[in-house]
Amino acid sequence: MNCPKCAHELVKKFYKGMFEVESCPNCRGMWLDFYELDKLEDIVFEDDEHKGSLVHFQKQTEYPCPHCGKNLDEFQYRLFDLKLDTCTVNDHGFWLDAGEDERVMDLMQKRSENIQRKLSAEVEWKQMLKGLHSFLGKRK
Ligand SMILES: [Zn+2]
Ligand SMILES: [Zn+2]
Repeated sequence: MNCPKCAHELVKKFYKGMFEVESCPNCRGMWLDFYELDKLEDIVFEDDEHKGSLVHFQKQTEYPCPHCGKNLDEFQYRLFDLKLDTCTVNDHGFWLDAGEDERVMDLMQKRSENIQRKLSAEVEWKQMLKGLHSFLGKRK
């Protein structure tokens, strides 16, 4: 397989010792199989339900998929300010430029913190409502 961005041959490498990716020794980008992007996110945020939908604003690029050669689609990642490339043919996978893996984890980390804040705010709100109800109940 060759790098979609610089055509250098991709080499297999263990990403943080967790799963195998095809990485480009020249431009330091990497190819993730379809489920590997999820695994990458799960390193920091496992809650799939709250990750948000993945693909927005798809647009075709001139870069070939390393699997099938079809042009990759660029998309906005989970509505964040980050663009990734994907091949949607048989869910081939995703291309991440150098450093974009760190950005993915960074964004998921922040989302995880936001969700936790939101959930604990909801719990507090429910407790407050409960208190209010019992207060109103007593007045009847
Ligand atoms: Zn490359
Ligand atoms: Zn493909």
